[in-house]
Amino acid sequence: MICDRCENQAAYTRKYSGEKLCSECFSKSIVKKTAKTISKYNMIQHNELVAVAVSGGKDSLALLKIINEMASTHSFKIKAITIDEGIPGYRNEALEIVEKICKELNVEHKVYSYKDLFELTLDEALELREGEKTSSCSICGTLRRRAMEHAAKDIGADVIATGHNLDDTLQTFVINMLSGDTKKIGWMDPDTSTNSLRKIKPFCEIYESEIVFYAFTNDMPFQSEPCPHMNEGIRTEIREFLNSLETQHSGIKNNMYQSILKVSQIVKNSNSKKRRRCEQCGNECTSGICSVCSTVLKLKENQT
Ligand code: SF4
Ligand code: ZN
Repeated sequence: MICDRCENQAAYTRKYSGEKLCSECFSKSIVKKTAKTISKYNMIQHNELVAVAVSGGKDSLALLKIINEMASTHSFKIKAITIDEGIPGYRNEALEIVEKICKELNVEHKVYSYKDLFELTLDEALELREGEKTSSCSICGTLRRRAMEHAAKDIGADVIATGHNLDDTLQTFVINMLSGDTKKIGWMDPDTSTNSLRKIKPFCEIYESEIVFYAFTNDMPFQSEPCPHMNEGIRTEIREFLNSLETQHSGIKNNMYQSILKVSQIVKNSNSKKRRRCEQCGNECTSGICSVCSTVLKLKENQT
């Protein structure tokens, strides 16, 4: 099997397009697609500082590598940030990998912990949650949003870039639908150019399986130990369901992604009519207190 773009042996077949690529042409195609997504949604402007959120997983390390290469030829700068949730035995391996890669790439790196920011590790916060209704990942995700905003402000960044891929977007959409959280669908629009601190996802149009292959073919080390809370929520089941659909119907994830783009814009426009400011932090929300502040306040109440 020969690569469709050069004379080398093909190493990857894109089932949804039938394209066969060698490792080198495949990697180039991922870099090109990322650059295209960044420019399509105006994700990064001239002279901006981008905080790249690097967890140590394959997505964020691949993003760091690609965006670092771009920064060297474009007029923007990057710094890496890592959020330490305080999950025993899980984050340490990741932190070592991130430190090492940042050193190799000569990227400044800073770690922010839940303990320093909220006086609670994730495990301590989970002890304080009311009943069993709120999942670990939902509390963790809420705290992470606040921690990343803090980190970005601390290093003076204009933009936060995360390694979320197309599969993450589909899963989040289904989770929001199944939990009745339709408001959050409006936050899924990749165009965040009107927000004061923009959160961008340059891999949002790339399949997870392609990021895995990119990381593998570029010999990127990544964290092997999964988070102990990973299988508590519904996300794993939805991931498996969407993967089995894609196996039977190649390209169905791309179709679904296109639908989500349209729906999220409609919800975003409808949310904007109800837009208010959070009384606690001043971020935009629809109810006078944003979900991050309400979670943090509840945890603090339970702590005292
Ligand atoms: Fe947090 Fe859930 Fe991710 Fe673990 S899997 S780090 S609990 S969001
Ligand atoms: Zn090739």
